[in-house]
Amino acid sequence: MRIGAHVDSADPLSEATARAADAVQFFLSDPQGWKAPKPREDADRLRAAEVDLYVHAPYVINVATLNNRIRIPSRKLLLGHATAAAEIGAKGLIVHGGHVNSGDDLAVGFDNWRKTFAYAADAGGFALPVLIENTAGGDNACARRLDALARLWDALGDYEVGFCLDTCHAHAGGEELLDLVDRVKAITGRIDLVHANNSKDTFGSGRDRHDNLDGGTIDPDLVVAVIRAAGAPAIVETPGGVDGQGADIAFLRDRLAVGSPAA
Ligand SMILES: [Zn+2]
Repeated sequence: MRIGAHVDSADPLSEATARAADAVQFFLSDPQGWKAPKPREDADRLRAAEVDLYVHAPYVINVATLNNRIRIPSRKLLLGHATAAAEIGAKGLIVHGGHVNSGDDLAVGFDNWRKTFAYAADAGGFALPVLIENTAGGDNACARRLDALARLWDALGDYEVGFCLDTCHAHAGGEELLDLVDRVKAITGRIDLVHANNSKDTFGSGRDRHDNLDGGTIDPDLVVAVIRAAGAPAIVETPGGVDGQGADIAFLRDRLAVGSPAA
């Protein structure tokens, strides 16, 4: 089981070593900005690394919105990130499910997701798996609650779409972690990555504040159970830098080794 952390993008491989991580996730550009990613000087080294790489798309991306001034640049930025992430040998590009504005029809949001994949297909397709991530908040989100997620997957139909399950977002978003993996897989057929985070906030709060695994309001054994059931790599997006994340990774390795049949 590959376990890693979301790290600073300047030197992700050193960050992995410092945390004894065998996977890292990072941004290729300012997560709050619209700039296309620049080619990386360390691309050869990243491609050759034994550490698994994941790229998180900028937070500003919202391909679901009915606002064309956000939607059009969003899908372009997503496609550009997929190309740049493939260039460094990343295994997946994680992007939030997005939302429509209050009063807008969520059905149009799902169809905008379909159009995003159609747009990418016209350009030859995304260059690596795109993993849509569940989100914590909002009343008009495409991937907060599983009823919405099912409609999103219906809209995406035959496109090859991956899924990233964030345990903090699920808990804060109002989905119980117990048996969540089965309920998600019944919709998506797959979980490609787990974001293994605790939550500073209560169940259903709709707030997105990650905590270390032994802090927060989620029983950490539930996070372990999610990873085990998903059978997918896990990335912690938790506070505390090398020390905090290193401890979270060590905790997960320790718990996942206990009681796993072929450890
Ligand atoms: Zn996440």
